[in-house]
Amino acid sequence: RDEESASLVVEDLRKSFGGIRAVDGASFSVERGSLTGLIGPNGAGKSTTFNLITGVYEPDGGRVTFEGRDLTGMRTHAIAKAGLVRTFQIARELEEMTVLENLMLAPRNQSGEKLVNAVVPGLRGRVREEERELRERVWETLELFEIDHLAEEHAGNLSGGQRKLLELARALLLDPSMMLLDEPFAGVNPTLEEKLLDRVHDLRDEGLTFLLVEHDMDLIMEHCEHVIVMHQGRVLAEGPPAAIRSNDRVIDAYLGE
Ligand code: ADP
Ligand code: MG
Repeated sequence: RDEESASLVVEDLRKSFGGIRAVDGASFSVERGSLTGLIGPNGAGKSTTFNLITGVYEPDGGRVTFEGRDLTGMRTHAIAKAGLVRTFQIARELEEMTVLENLMLAPRNQSGEKLVNAVVPGLRGRVREEERELRERVWETLELFEIDHLAEEHAGNLSGGQRKLLELARALLLDPSMMLLDEPFAGVNPTLEEKLLDRVHDLRDEGLTFLLVEHDMDLIMEHCEHVIVMHQGRVLAEGPPAAIRSNDRVIDAYLGE
């Protein structure tokens, strides 16, 4: 696993909250085009690591490099623009809006550019064209996730599983080259989970890179080709699923939960 084939490289990442070292010198890399799993007992620092990588929190130390670019300390929208996105829960304000409206807003939330264009005379035609293209992409995405029948439904009325689909669809509209998924199947029924996993595999086949946090060990072992294990803010082990499953230190870490 050399630097050349790595999409994401995390080096000695650190973040404390008061006296708690949530992430305490985590280092790992994610192979381009892989579906890599990130596991670890509750409180291991997985979500904080995601928040540090995607600019939700600023690290106390360490470095995040994505496709050769140093993204450390950059803001979420700038990181998304570089092609690295994570899913976010639908904000309360957006629950009043329809699924379609939520998706139409997704790319625009990332930068003020489109708004600037809208007020510059002469660029209106281009804006209309972009609007049409966006609408087309949104419908394609709705169909891909099989939620086109929910287009006019208020986001607040969706089931837990449908909401997860919307969150994933919204992130996908940012046209990422890598996605970080933090427990994307929580509260999702098995049929929908199957569908989501199919979409993830399809997207991976098209070249997208995934880093997936998931507590269901069997799911991780079945679907990921590489697994990183975090414990107490650091990487405890990494390797192919079979090696991780039989790793004594990993077993100990989970037993001590
Ligand atoms: P995981 O996702 O692996 O379960 P987290 O990254 O959520 O772990 O949490 C790691 C540690 O950091 C835990 O002890 C958690 O309580 C703490 N932590 C996470 N976020 C915050 C925060 N915003 N403020 C204070 N402590 C936090
Ligand atoms: Mg978490």
